[in-house]
Amino acid sequence: MIAVLKPGASQEQIKNLIAWLEDRGLKVNLSEGEFYTILGLIGDVSKIDTELLEGLEMVDSVKRISEPFKRANRKFHPDNSIVEVGGGIAIGSGFQIIAGPCSVESPEQILEIAKSVKASGATILRGGTFKPRTSPYDFQGMQADGLPLLLEAKKQTGMPIITEIMNVVHLPLFENVDIIQVGARNMQNFELLKELGMIKTPVLLKRGLANTLQELLMSAEYIMAGGNSNVILCERGIRTFETYTRNTLDLSAVPVLRELSHLPVIVDPSHASGIARLVEPMAMAAAAAGANGLMIEVHNDPPNALCDGAQSLTPEQFAALTEKVRRVYEVANK
Ligand code: PEP
Ligand code: MN
Repeated sequence: MIAVLKPGASQEQIKNLIAWLEDRGLKVNLSEGEFYTILGLIGDVSKIDTELLEGLEMVDSVKRISEPFKRANRKFHPDNSIVEVGGGIAIGSGFQIIAGPCSVESPEQILEIAKSVKASGATILRGGTFKPRTSPYDFQGMQADGLPLLLEAKKQTGMPIITEIMNVVHLPLFENVDIIQVGARNMQNFELLKELGMIKTPVLLKRGLANTLQELLMSAEYIMAGGNSNVILCERGIRTFETYTRNTLDLSAVPVLRELSHLPVIVDPSHASGIARLVEPMAMAAAAAGANGLMIEVHNDPPNALCDGAQSLTPEQFAALTEKVRRVYEVANK
């Protein structure tokens, strides 16, 4: 349920109303927008006399929210959320490009790629160290040894970093990581999501291979319910009957998620297509569809990459992509 307050409601009145609602066992989410203040009520709202609430002088209207996701719901928070990720970078403000290799492979590799993507306009560096691979015989990432290399690249370039967590026991290793990625395979690892709700580090939550948008938003809700509202949604392609591409980029997810939720939405055309030459057109389409940014895999030597070489762009291809994407973004946001 949400209670929309009248523009003139005083801080004192708002405080008293929140205390009254909390006394009735509800959790109250206060959202102060440009024009309206909205109280999002979570819990057993049957204890509330809606007519009484609606009759209060400072209350404009009261509405029930039918969707099961509350905190992630745009009705709760009509303005777009902006997630500050460090280094003065904010996702949801302008268009942010996350780029870097699928996996961190060596100090030279991550540093060289970091410098080149930064020079082409990437604002955040990616690099996996704990890798979810379909085969147990494939390279599993550098694991804990990769994190100091990523942190060193952060130090040398000043770029915030994002890397994937696969096991909650590794959380202490992520202390200086700017954005923690929850990969597609862990989107419904609810125990992991609950732990990430208890910290403040921004979380980039990737859509599962076979998950609906509502399921993605319910997973975001798990993180937000714990108190961490710094959630970024990521569309990375879903399983369909098509086999030409690695996955099928569900581009309509972008406007739908932005309509249903206030959280920023990022598109990953690399994992969505699995084919390097498709990354640029899909990236442009994502910018045109209203995404808040992109996540792109870039490698300095794609044919010899230890993971996902076929979908990785060279630094030159990445530079050409960012140029085109910026132009599309400008036209789409005029
Ligand atoms: C990744 O970003 O490296 C990755 C494994 O992505 P996904 O979870 O989308 O497959
Ligand atoms: Mn990858």
